[in-house]
Amino acid sequence: LKEIKKVDPEIADIINEEQDRQDNNIELIASENFVSEAVKEAAGSCMTNKYAEGYPGKRYYGGCEVVDKAERLAIERAKELFDADHANVQPHSGSQANQAVYFATLSPGDTVLAMDLTHGGHLTHGSPVNMSGEYYNFVHYGVDKNKEVIDFEQVKMLAEEYQPKMIVAGASAYPRIINFKKFRKIADEVGAYFMVDMAHIAGLVATGLHPNPVEEADFVTTTTHKTLRGTRGGLILCKEEYAKKIDKAIFPGIQGGPLMHIIASKAVSFKEALSEEFAEYQEKVVRNARALGEKLQDYGMRLVSGGTDNHLLLVDLTNMDITGKEAEEALDKVAITVNKNTIPFETRSPFVTSGIRIGTPAVTTRGMGEEEMKQIGEFMYETLKNYDNDDRLAEIKKDVLALTNEFK
Ligand code: PLP
Repeated sequence: LKEIKKVDPEIADIINEEQDRQDNNIELIASENFVSEAVKEAAGSCMTNKYAEGYPGKRYYGGCEVVDKAERLAIERAKELFDADHANVQPHSGSQANQAVYFATLSPGDTVLAMDLTHGGHLTHGSPVNMSGEYYNFVHYGVDKNKEVIDFEQVKMLAEEYQPKMIVAGASAYPRIINFKKFRKIADEVGAYFMVDMAHIAGLVATGLHPNPVEEADFVTTTTHKTLRGTRGGLILCKEEYAKKIDKAIFPGIQGGPLMHIIASKAVSFKEALSEEFAEYQEKVVRNARALGEKLQDYGMRLVSGGTDNHLLLVDLTNMDITGKEAEEALDKVAITVNKNTIPFETRSPFVTSGIRIGTPAVTTRGMGEEEMKQIGEFMYETLKNYDNDDRLAEIKKDVLALTNEFK
């Protein structure tokens, strides 16, 4: 941080402080990861200086011949990674990728069927506090009360009743494999578009550990920074017939100039994701999630749906007499980072919640394996059991720091 220190020592100190936090804490936020130095270098490169409204070969600015090469590479690699007809690598975020698909296909007031936020869906899938919920008429499906997996009978029933123009699958807190074929069938029966938001599972999809929604969906959106382990950003994949509509919806529809440094950085991360090492990494992510879940279950903790098929676990804390908010705060005190999360059929407010969501992408990137997951499970259980005992929490924190110190 040589230059930042000279120009802005305050920000340099803050960045160093955040680096220390990331180094010392056990990072279990399911949507986070650590990018490679190569991805970071591209994101911090001179490409940030370039305006490039438009698309490669068709820009509204001169001097784009070099950045065009980067965007073309990012597009080709994204298509190869997910076996897609068309890729738009310009969305600044997952939310904007979703917004663009809606803008390309829906009119205000149109009906869309998507997963309920408290059952695992995302704000951009029609929450009343999000633009999607304000502009479109979202109807929500959820999980079945017993098995806590997607209730396809309900999806079908709601689709028949409401005749949506689009069905959305994909979630932020769903630990199971999603059956895209079943969604496609229902979408076809009612003549709806089918969109999949694979933000959480994109890394697993890229490596064949989760069915690829590109085979079934008209539109697939994702973030690039979760399991996919790229820079913070978004991506849209679609069938060739929708390519022009999607490109127009991103620019000039909802965005201006693309972030060329981020697009270069996406290209680097897609190249990494095409490697053998990345496939092995994703397998470890899944194995670690399973190992951590089993350890928590050994302590009697309840996992929503009884386990996990992917990178995340949703823990129902109801039988532990602690709320999600209290659990998040207690775990923060011992340098374990998680987020409180609503559980299906939640009775508490989203600011309190009955659950926590945990994920293994970041700890796996750090090199931790199943042995460490067992240790982490023990730290978590001990913390939640002793959440009001600060002396005990201080002891646990020492053990956490000793573990993270081994992986610096
Ligand atoms: N879609 C899903 C399923 C997500 O989990 C998220 C982020 O958490 C998003 C979209 C939004 O992505 P972003 O935060 O980049 O806007």
